[in-house]
Amino acid sequence: MTATATDIKSLESQYLLQNYRRQPVVFERGEGVRLFDDAGRSYLDFVSGIGVASLGHAHPRLARAVASQAATLIHTSNLYFHPLQGELAARLVKLTKLDRAFFCNSGTEAVEACLKFARRFWHARGAARRTDFVAFNHSFHGRTMGALSVTWDEHYRAPFEPLVPGVTFVDADRPATLDAAVGEHTAAIIVEPIQGEGGVRPLSRAAATAIVEACRRTGALLIADEVQSGSGRTGSFLHGPALGLAPDLVALGKALGAGVPIGAAMLSSRVAGTIAPGDHGTTYGGNLLACRAALTFLDEFEGSLSESIPRVSAYLFDRLRALAAAHRPRVAEVRGAGLIAGLDLTVDAAPVVAAALDRGLLVNRTSATVIRLLPPYVITEKDVDEAMGILDAVLGAL
Ligand code: PLP
Repeated sequence: MTATATDIKSLESQYLLQNYRRQPVVFERGEGVRLFDDAGRSYLDFVSGIGVASLGHAHPRLARAVASQAATLIHTSNLYFHPLQGELAARLVKLTKLDRAFFCNSGTEAVEACLKFARRFWHARGAARRTDFVAFNHSFHGRTMGALSVTWDEHYRAPFEPLVPGVTFVDADRPATLDAAVGEHTAAIIVEPIQGEGGVRPLSRAAATAIVEACRRTGALLIADEVQSGSGRTGSFLHGPALGLAPDLVALGKALGAGVPIGAAMLSSRVAGTIAPGDHGTTYGGNLLACRAALTFLDEFEGSLSESIPRVSAYLFDRLRALAAAHRPRVAEVRGAGLIAGLDLTVDAAPVVAAALDRGLLVNRTSATVIRLLPPYVITEKDVDEAMGILDAVLGAL
């Protein structure tokens, strides 16, 4: 007997921790850029599971690779060798121009690992008091204690204090505050090249230059959190290099596994050289299923997607700017790069998200006023046209 939407919702409301606010829809299957609800209705997916379903849904090659891997071997732990971690690490080293990879299971864990590796680096150098972190206003790095400690929003932080001490938040657009905050006790600066959860806020070139200069002046390490902006979202594998950032540590997640959970911390050799067996680890990290999914994603990205993303992105941003012009002053700004875009409104974005859902388009709200678009990498100009048509109607009806 198949459960109805009402059954599903009542089971959840009775037994599931009530820590999520869900949209009123039950999805049962997907295909490409579309999701289908329990009544068979189709939705154009411009959320992709918050930037995760990079190859869209039910991607035939990914489905075959994951099924075949599951039928062969899923997990062995990190007590033993298996054939895929080294292969995936080598591919990521080439793409990121860093030297080593550590695999984990989420973006938060990748950030947590980067923070620990930065502290381990200074500890190994005998700088035991070099433990502090500098992060940015509007940052989001995850919800574990370390990652939460460098996350800006008071709303996420306050109920869980005290957090890790020694974190200073600065305004990316005021380089003088960065200069004042970074000093001899700073283990690392952590930055998102494009802030995702904070409202799709790209880091400016000037801010990036100030970060590079602060690291040069003080020796502080740089951690780039590319969990949302990386793994090809902007057409390049990482976004930081386009801004002149050359981090010692990079956190990856989301799109990398195309739906199968995987995170990665990428390390420069000087940081990696300070990590000894036993310093850090995880049971699941880098299991065969996750590595197979990531390898399949990389094949697709390096195949044709790295070329189609910039082309579709240019079209998307042209259309978004036209949409913004047609709906001024309600749309204040269009921000983003590649296939991450934010429409900043002068009103609450929640009713727009709900009305778009009613019309068969998935977008989501981040910050109070920003409509965020994080489509799968496989979208076409035709999908963009359809999404813009719906957004135009929804904004017009506000
Ligand atoms: N870092 C950034 C920049 C993110 O956008 C997110 C999630 O939105 C995270 C870290 C946390 O990743 P996850 O939710 O996979 O643990």
